[in-house]
Amino acid sequence: MTESVGSGITIKRILTGIRPTGALHLGHYVGALENWLRLQDQYECFFLIADYQALGDHFHEIDLIRESVREVTLDWLAVGLDPDRSAFVIQSYVPEHAELTMLLSFITPLGMLERNPTLKSELDALPVERRSVGFFNYPMSQVADILLPKAHLVPVGDDQAPHVEMTREIARKFNRMFAEVFPEPDTLIGRIPRLRGTDGSAKMSKSKGNVIALSDDADTVKRKVMSMYTDPTRLRASDPGHVEGNPLFEYHDAFNQDTAQVADFKARYVAGKVGDVEVKKALVEALNRFLAPIRTRRDEYAAKPQLVEDALMEGTRRTRKIAAETMREVRAAMRIDSYTTVWE
Ligand code: ATP
Ligand code: MG
Repeated sequence: MTESVGSGITIKRILTGIRPTGALHLGHYVGALENWLRLQDQYECFFLIADYQALGDHFHEIDLIRESVREVTLDWLAVGLDPDRSAFVIQSYVPEHAELTMLLSFITPLGMLERNPTLKSELDALPVERRSVGFFNYPMSQVADILLPKAHLVPVGDDQAPHVEMTREIARKFNRMFAEVFPEPDTLIGRIPRLRGTDGSAKMSKSKGNVIALSDDADTVKRKVMSMYTDPTRLRASDPGHVEGNPLFEYHDAFNQDTAQVADFKARYVAGKVGDVEVKKALVEALNRFLAPIRTRRDEYAAKPQLVEDALMEGTRRTRKIAAETMREVRAAMRIDSYTTVWE
């Protein structure tokens, strides 16, 4: 049992989240969900569906955001996250997220956002007409998301690490300037910090269309794997190939339980003794073995929409209570809590 700064929290907390911008994929599993599953018993967990944040670059796709709230929840239930133990939260149903974002933005130097490497590369990749002020400010809203339940740990893929680092700095600054309210959260990076996309690019990402979704059926997985990017320097199966940076082997390492088979493929691949097709076929089998139970559970939950809704409403209700408590402390610390403070 631990005691957190300025509060009576007795069990440590996790806050982490996902944007409702599409169904979840293999990258989410190895970068984030796996750790969430493992830590559900040790921490009080808040899993956030960050729908405010999705508006940043998807403000023109409200339908996609609303539908994805349900898809993400089904994916969470399908992989085994448990709404009885952990709170599933819809960000916009807890408007304190917006209030804390706004208040913290006043103590955040502009340079902190300008220097954020993840934000920089995401902005560069975004067409100019989609670069909103809200998108520029999204790491700030992530800081508020993490601090609102006073989280101690944030399990994420490594693209999110700069945002947690920023959270630590803002928590320190707030505590120093006003009152000891927030713990400084630690980052926990997943087993595969950043899974490559099926197109070979550095990150599998919902909005890039280079994903294998946890909800893809067996035929879709086969079609995607068989047309996957592998080693562009290799023209024939007899050419020595590269394993490093090749998503085919990255996925085998991450999802194929038959490690002897993977080692054998690697040795034959670099020696030019196995073709892409054979390695891909084995990957299709391994992925479908991994995904089959997830698909079954997903179908079971999809047939019970009330259960999905209850999970979201209960988690959101629990979070609202905690959010209200934190905001009372924040407003008091910043002396914007009541009319009378003006005259003190
Ligand atoms: P979008 O393209 O809309 O930004 P995304 O696929 O990046 O979607 P997010 O909702 O931004 O998904 O990320 C949710 C969590 O999953 C974060 O912790 C992020 O670091 C992690 N994550 C996402 N993609 C990967 C990946 N390819 N490898 C490892 N972790 C990932
Ligand atoms: Mg992302």
